Amino acid sequence: MEPFTYERPTDDAKAIAGASADKSVFIAGGTTLVDLMRLEVLRPTALIDITGLAYDKVEEAGGGVKIGALVRNSDLAYHPVIAQRYPVLAQALLAGASPQLRNLATTGGNLLQRTRCPYFRDPATAQCNKRVPGSGCAAIGGFTRSHAVLGTSQHCIATNPSDMNVALAALDPIVHVKGSKGARTIPFGDLHTLPGDHPEVEHTLAPGELITHVELPALPFATRSHYLKVRDRASYAFALASAAVALDVAGGTIKDARIALGGVATKPWRSREAEAVLTGKKGTVELYRSAAEAALAGARGHKDNQFKIELAKRTLVRALIDTMKGAS
Ligand code: SF4
Repeated sequence: MEPFTYERPTDDAKAIAGASADKSVFIAGGTTLVDLMRLEVLRPTALIDITGLAYDKVEEAGGGVKIGALVRNSDLAYHPVIAQRYPVLAQALLAGASPQLRNLATTGGNLLQRTRCPYFRDPATAQCNKRVPGSGCAAIGGFTRSHAVLGTSQHCIATNPSDMNVALAALDPIVHVKGSKGARTIPFGDLHTLPGDHPEVEHTLAPGELITHVELPALPFATRSHYLKVRDRASYAFALASAAVALDVAGGTIKDARIALGGVATKPWRSREAEAVLTGKKGTVELYRSAAEAALAGARGHKDNQFKIELAKRTLVRALIDTMKGAS
């Protein structure tokens, strides 16, 4: 591991000033960052520990819920307001990682979780556009079982690994950030970027900008929501495919829908196409299948991950059936 400096400021201004230096990074739970430093994938020269800042609360505000960036994943999952009002988020959090990791990982860190592409995590692999811009992509033409089928480019097909982000894509919160130029907000859908020609760019934060909190909208129908994750083993595994669903149902008709997919896309993948198919219709298995076809219409598989296209469709159909249970 490369040598680095460490500081733990207790106010925002000092944290943001500290992070403005080249190769300095924020650290909170460290569940991704420390791994990547040990692997020498990341070589920061300064760590700014933000765990002394006051962003560790979950509060109901303005009809919605404000989640501090430092709220631990386990605390958020078991918070009664989240469990009652946004079960899809609680379920997604509990589907992620292990209890030990969830006790450390934070909301802000999870938002920016890095890909599990094995070539990205192995500096001995020379070709990785995300790690070494312009070097090529070892996954394309390599082993692609865990890779994405939606939102890919000819330069990168890495999957966004976060479960929490899939639930958030469905709930569509606002992300609050602070930087040297002041505070601003970013709609969740605009936080993550597609790989395009620049896979090394993963989000729209400016250098040194700090995520302070996430603001969930009121969204009353999110009480009828569900997260379904399909993976190789029952725990401590990343999604092969997952679906986050929230439905507003009256008289068996879907009045409104939120649909997002995980494990199959380069960023948290909201499917407005599937939502459009579902909205205004009676819930039937045939309708769910049509929605799933629409969600995956633009999917493109590679050698080892073609199976994900059908798997994602079936995952979404099953999630819709489960979410509709008991609806009238
Ligand atoms: Fe790197 Fe992306 Fe290719 Fe993986 S898929 S090797 S992260 S460029």
